Amino acid sequence: MTDYYEILGVPRDATPEQIKKAYRKLARELHPDVAGEAGEDRFKDVARAYEVLSNPDKRQQYDMGVDPTSPGGGAGGGFGAGFGFQDIFETFFGGGQPTGPVPRARRGNDALVRLDLELSEAVFGAKREIQVDTAVVCNTCGGDGARPGTHARTCDVCQGRGSVQRVARSFLGQVMTNQPCSACGGFGTVIPEPCTDCSGEGRVRSRRTISVNVPAGVDTGTRIKLSAQGEVGPGGGPAGDLYVEIRERAHDTFVRRGDELHCTLQVPMTAAALGTVLELDTLDGLQEIDLRPGTQPGQVMTLKGLGVGHLHSAGRGDLNVHIEVQVPMGLDEEQTALLQQLSVLRGEERPESRLASVQGGVFSRLRDKLSGR
Ligand SMILES: [Zn+2]
Ligand SMILES: [Zn+2]
Repeated sequence: MTDYYEILGVPRDATPEQIKKAYRKLARELHPDVAGEAGEDRFKDVARAYEVLSNPDKRQQYDMGVDPTSPGGGAGGGFGAGFGFQDIFETFFGGGQPTGPVPRARRGNDALVRLDLELSEAVFGAKREIQVDTAVVCNTCGGDGARPGTHARTCDVCQGRGSVQRVARSFLGQVMTNQPCSACGGFGTVIPEPCTDCSGEGRVRSRRTISVNVPAGVDTGTRIKLSAQGEVGPGGGPAGDLYVEIRERAHDTFVRRGDELHCTLQVPMTAAALGTVLELDTLDGLQEIDLRPGTQPGQVMTLKGLGVGHLHSAGRGDLNVHIEVQVPMGLDEEQTALLQQLSVLRGEERPESRLASVQGGVFSRLRDKLSGR
């Protein structure tokens, strides 16, 4: 039977207010306008759960083991004509079938830690040591929760079944119900002398150092899964997984877009006009940049394979060097005279006003590069 309490995420003894609040929250999250089609099925489930649990009659019926929304269920609230024998049977006999004792050892929770990386570590990959606070198996009791030299023993109250039968009176006469044994919490065993180090839980909190291989190409938000490195479960149960979530620090000179890197190189006007060879300090060390005579502001020079390593394949992205031409300021007399002479030679003393076309201008080149076109 569908667990409507679980669908709404409320305890079985939730008040009508709690149920209404939980429903409103989920309805907002799963509304088709917000979640799209993906949330549609869950939205229907949530609506059905609320329909049942918000109605005192239907909720009571449901708590007795009958789903009032299923065919044959008493939709009107009472035991109507459509209420079949099977439903009555399940209401009084099936709703509390003994399920056997609950195991003490359960799987532990997954854990999440964050790891700050420098850009170069994301570019090349890295090996990092991280400290995690998680639950580990208690060394004193080995996880079973009993003080060394003592053992858990079978529960006297339920004889190890984990549940007890109760006889209840109803208008159908005496009926048997099964309830979890309160003496042992449903485990079927009790620990007479719990381990003092873990209070009988079989696990303790501890700080561990774990080494993580960070592959090249990770980005902010990437999660690296380390299987079975999460919390050990209660009763020494298997550990959950540990997720390491990457946060990449911003770099002073390089900007990352996907696996491409971008930087801006400032070049004096004369060097851009005459051409030169410059040394660029990249993450791979010094690289020579060959500026052709007549290099334009906004021009992009691509250094192949000097970008970020691809996460899911071999190879690396590119490093794109954006040229920023610096126009000289504070010219002295001699420099001014020389530039004036140059402008005369080039017939640029009175340049005409020319607007660049949108296609092919500095802005479109920059935009195309950033959007990967
Ligand atoms: Zn212990
Ligand atoms: Zn018991």
